[in-house]
Amino acid sequence: MLVINNVTKLFGGIIANHDISFRFEKGNIVGLIGPNGAGKSTLLNMVSSVFPPSKGEILFEGERIDQLPAFRMAPLGISRTFQNLQIFKQMSVLENVMVGHHAKKKSGIFQAALRLSQSRKDEKDIYEQAIKHIKFVGLENEMELQAGNLSLGKLRLLELARALCSEPKLLLLDEIAAGLNHKETREMSDLIQKVKDIGIAVLLVEHDMDMVMKICDHIIVLDQGEKIAEGTPEEVQNNERVITAYLGEEVEETAEEAS
Ligand code: ADP
Ligand code: MG
Repeated sequence: MLVINNVTKLFGGIIANHDISFRFEKGNIVGLIGPNGAGKSTLLNMVSSVFPPSKGEILFEGERIDQLPAFRMAPLGISRTFQNLQIFKQMSVLENVMVGHHAKKKSGIFQAALRLSQSRKDEKDIYEQAIKHIKFVGLENEMELQAGNLSLGKLRLLELARALCSEPKLLLLDEIAAGLNHKETREMSDLIQKVKDIGIAVLLVEHDMDMVMKICDHIIVLDQGEKIAEGTPEEVQNNERVITAYLGEEVEETAEEAS
């Protein structure tokens, strides 16, 4: 379904991703983990064509996608959420989700938002699709609320509903559980498994190790731009290089807390 071939990304002198390769089969939840600054978001940004790789190629269902503009992704079947929420706070939950469906046909989320009030053509269809996905994530009681009034947990559900609205084959989630409490994280895990059950593949960047180990079929580990390990949750947990990379991060965090 997704093939990453020797992908490198440079930002000036920074090597954010170095020579990364992996394959991703249909029907899986794949976790992309690693310490802060490892290059996880950068890789996700390339798979969703936010920017192209400096070197290497990315194929989706056999087709090169690494040079395509971002607005071509949703029609192809790739959809995503962002580490920094991209919500229209003045709009209702329903309107925010409807924008996701427009995004499938038109350019980006922002252009779609501008066009929302103008285009009435497939309005009913889009409305029904939006309701379906709002129910899927369990936000039906908040549908008419202004998005700006939602809790973080519900905003993340809203982002998920919107990403699902373009009916993707591959869903990319960038730290969708960041800042959520235990209960919300557990509910998010269940929801991601429900997404898998309806046949959508998920590539998940996540910091919460319990969540990753519980729901991922396969895990890829990055550290300082390099892929240092890949395998089942159990294989990755017992990998020396992975343990060392994470110990380094814990030492840094402890030092930060102490200062
Ligand atoms: P992660 O998501 O694993 O925390 P990122 O992919 O965000 O890591 O970042 C990897 C490295 O690339 C970091 O050193 C970061 O500062 C750098 N980086 C990421 N995006 C940009 C950008 N748009 N411009 C310049 N440097 C960037
Ligand atoms: Mg990131």
